[in-house]
Amino acid sequence: MGCGRGPRLMGRALVSAGFYPRSVRMGTGDCMQITPHIHAIRTPQGPAGDRFVYVYIVYGERIVVIDTGFAVAEKLILDDIRSAGRDPSEIDCIVLTHGHPDHTGSAKAIRDLAGCIVAAHPQDRHAIENPDPALLSGPAQGVPPLVSGPVPVGRLLAEGDTISAGKGLKLEVLYTPGHSPGSISLLLRSEGALFTGDAVQAPGRMPIFADPAALVRSLRRLKAIPGLMHYLPGHDQPAEGAALYQRFDDSIANIRRFHTAVKQAALETGGKPDPQAIAARVFASLNLPPAPSPQLAAMINNIILADLNAVGLDSLLQE
Ligand SMILES: [Zn+2]
Repeated sequence: MGCGRGPRLMGRALVSAGFYPRSVRMGTGDCMQITPHIHAIRTPQGPAGDRFVYVYIVYGERIVVIDTGFAVAEKLILDDIRSAGRDPSEIDCIVLTHGHPDHTGSAKAIRDLAGCIVAAHPQDRHAIENPDPALLSGPAQGVPPLVSGPVPVGRLLAEGDTISAGKGLKLEVLYTPGHSPGSISLLLRSEGALFTGDAVQAPGRMPIFADPAALVRSLRRLKAIPGLMHYLPGHDQPAEGAALYQRFDDSIANIRRFHTAVKQAALETGGKPDPQAIAARVFASLNLPPAPSPQLAAMINNIILADLNAVGLDSLLQE
């Protein structure tokens, strides 16, 4: 089965609402064609099926894969390439927008099969080359591992670099730190397509960042890019047209709401900041679901501390 065509066959109402429809089901993932050169594959992020992470494939003379989901996404990516009448050996490069395992999980498996290079920003290189050992074994017996293995970063990317898929398809690297120190976005200017990784996050959830002030600056920078037609994020729904610009403001508003709640909770708890006590209050006041695992609780504590220690965040959020 080929990749479902997204925007080209869509009703005007859906387009103006800023959402692409779900299209063709492929196993546990969904695939849609964004433009003749770009496919989006929705890959599962957790067993419940309500969380997902997008992988994007750019088809030129050569193939560029942007992010790789968890290890389970390998089959979905290879299926898409084969049903497009192409061969995995045509993959030139896997670009990782950052080093989190839900974006790097199948990079090793695909690289080993395709013989391609893996490219990422140096600040996230360590996470890609040294994944948490817990991710390399299945979380339970009979459950496959989340990450297919450590993978060497063969090309280090910096602001202004380009990655070519041939046929004039050139991805520009934008350094957009904040979600992680080495987060990048990719701009395919000829198609008005912006791949944001996790720099832009869906509202209604806790924002995830290593440096919230850097993240707000990155979001403002992305919003200032003229002529964007396609917004292609990691965990949010892709969008197109003028509606996509709202996503940057929504993401900043979400950080502002979270920061206000953290400051309020820090005042209420008093004394030396206790990230766990602050997190409990913030989650209650913002009506967020509690962390399902101790690992996530530790990550939330780090985010609370990053928020409390951010320099210049208040004035940045007032602009
Ligand atoms: Zn991430």
